[in-house]
Amino acid sequence: MKDYRKKLKRDVRVGKIGIGGNFPISIQSMTNTDTRDVSATVNQIIKLEEAGCEIVRVSTPDIESAKAIKAIKEHVNIPIVADIHFDYKIAIEAIKNGADKVRLNPGNIGSAEKVLEVVKVAKEYCVPIRVGANSGSINKKYEHLPKIDALVESALDEVRILEKAGFCDIVISLKSSDVLETVQANRKIHALVDYPLHIGVTEAGTLYNSLIKSSSALGTLLLEGIGDTIRISIAGDPINEVITAKKLLTFLKIRKGVDVVACPTCARTNFDVEEVALEVEKFLSNIEEDITVSVLGCVVNGVGEAKDSDVGIAGVKDGIAVFYKGEIIGTYQKEKAFEILKEKIELIIKERRGDK
Ligand code: SF4
Repeated sequence: MKDYRKKLKRDVRVGKIGIGGNFPISIQSMTNTDTRDVSATVNQIIKLEEAGCEIVRVSTPDIESAKAIKAIKEHVNIPIVADIHFDYKIAIEAIKNGADKVRLNPGNIGSAEKVLEVVKVAKEYCVPIRVGANSGSINKKYEHLPKIDALVESALDEVRILEKAGFCDIVISLKSSDVLETVQANRKIHALVDYPLHIGVTEAGTLYNSLIKSSSALGTLLLEGIGDTIRISIAGDPINEVITAKKLLTFLKIRKGVDVVACPTCARTNFDVEEVALEVEKFLSNIEEDITVSVLGCVVNGVGEAKDSDVGIAGVKDGIAVFYKGEIIGTYQKEKAFEILKEKIELIIKERRGDK
């Protein structure tokens, strides 16, 4: 697998997950339940965890939410980040109740004394703090600057406050809802600091918009070696954020995963390519091994694609041909072809895992 990062960052520990340094790029998401509703929040975190989420953020708008973190943590395995604005007491309560990281901008909490209080507890509990700036929360004193510079300077101010308080266990995030601003701001901060970066497009929108905005911005940054942890923000079910993030890291060859190659279909199509491709994707949704499966409507491109795929199917005149390791192993009717496809996929997975 590839790691495009050239510049070694500091690393921080968020519970069992490391961010920065030589740690792999991690996937984050955020719950959209009421954090005080422990059962609903736990259920959602468990689903996110099963989908591949590695760090989860929970909104922590009040002391009750901060206290709920303790009960939530008893039922989940992945680290929890408390998302806090303005109130340093909530941050302290969240840390004392087990938050593995807090997202907080010290410039928003009032005074140097309050920052020191948070830093004291964060140090005691070994909890890092994520600071940064979003396009919607730029420090007013930088509003006259070009947007990119304003984002960077706003984030650096937050970093300096913590550094002044003797705290360097920091992750930085710079987010905009604009693709180019996100890319340019992260390039700039990456060149200036050695703190790990959390990257994402903020308020990226509904599924299609976010897929395109997040893939283009994060894809560009990751290929340039920028970013140590990612969140793909999508309006709606957060499971989609995790599925998308996993696919992005897989397709950039940053981590192992499945690639289902399917043709767009045309007049030559001999079976329902979309239906079968979706079924294959579902079948392989929890597999974290490198495997390429092709689903093609006909053999026009089948032979060429099959050479690049581990296994695949292609429509032919009298049925569906199954390819395995570059060769056609037979032609079958639809149900049988799919059954053999699954068998071959399972065989490949076993081989990859070194099973006898
Ligand atoms: S693989 Fe065959 S069916 Fe699919 S788009 Fe290409 S030519 Fe059409």
